[in-house]
Amino acid sequence: MQLYNKLSAEERRALILKAGNDRLTISFYKYAKIKNIQEFRDQLFVDWEKLEVLGRTYVATEGINAQISLPANNLEKFKEQLYLIDFMNDIRLNVAVEQDSFSFLKNKIKIRKKIVADGLEDDTFDVTDIGTHLKAKEFNSIIEDKNTVLVDMRNHYESEIGHFKGAITPDVDTFRDSLDIIEDDLKEHKEDKNLVMYCTGGIRCEKASAYYKHKGFKNVYQLEGGIIDYTRQVKDEGLENKFLGKNFVFDHRKSERISEDIVSSCHQCGAPCDSHVNCLNKGCHLLFIQCNSCKEEMLETCSDKCREIVILSEEDQKKLRKGKSVSNKVFRKGRTDKLKFSPNKNNL
Ligand SMILES: [Zn+2]
Ligand SMILES: [Zn+2]
Repeated sequence: MQLYNKLSAEERRALILKAGNDRLTISFYKYAKIKNIQEFRDQLFVDWEKLEVLGRTYVATEGINAQISLPANNLEKFKEQLYLIDFMNDIRLNVAVEQDSFSFLKNKIKIRKKIVADGLEDDTFDVTDIGTHLKAKEFNSIIEDKNTVLVDMRNHYESEIGHFKGAITPDVDTFRDSLDIIEDDLKEHKEDKNLVMYCTGGIRCEKASAYYKHKGFKNVYQLEGGIIDYTRQVKDEGLENKFLGKNFVFDHRKSERISEDIVSSCHQCGAPCDSHVNCLNKGCHLLFIQCNSCKEEMLETCSDKCREIVILSEEDQKKLRKGKSVSNKVFRKGRTDKLKFSPNKNNL
């Protein structure tokens, strides 16, 4: 039995083109207690291959976190199959706002220690004891309450290009950091304030809400399905949209536009702009915000230094990169002096 992906991205792209079916990009997650994780993973792989599912899925003994794409006409079958698994019966599927048939080109299902790299070593609390889920309509009304503290549980590079009106957006690189900052800021208000939080698709708030309840917060709420599902509900129900700007996403699209507001600036010239790029210099790859005219002038790089490098031959560039690793710097935009207009540059 084949339990791993065999086709290359290019072969897969050709197959998708040939099939000519629209594909849906969807995501879902659930904290649960899964016993035989290898068996669970392999069964998913077998079931999903049959339905031409592609994507990136993490499974762990604490649950599942999936971002996938599949042919739109297989959706009903896919749901039926998924709902047969006890803890996923009636699970909410987040459908992406902008669709792209090529959002994933492989089917990767990986066993991890955790379904989100949350940096939380504290496993003394029950991750299934979560806060109160809010629908978009309820969320809109509770965030107007003067007793509510609204917190963006995402990282700085995500909230910078889009966030809810009036939200606290911690200047953090990791989820772990923001848990501490929020707890400290709100320690006097564990009982009298509503702690309302949101994130991209809701998963980080599942963990965070369980954590804050464990830490003694009495009124903990989270936006169910995150910004992604909020946007869908706002459209479907004709509600007021209180989200400004773009929703940062973790695939090649980088973001989805939710409102026409541009809440951030080009990190090089300061002009209004909310498009992320990765520096074209492979030895840098810094994620930052760059407008079209800077893009042209800087050849899609973050600095004069990187610009000098990308005009070298590929071979010379390789030599320069040898032995250097950049992997953990990719998201550290703004933690560098290279970018004149980054809002975080003084918080090194
Ligand atoms: Zn610019
Ligand atoms: Zn660079």
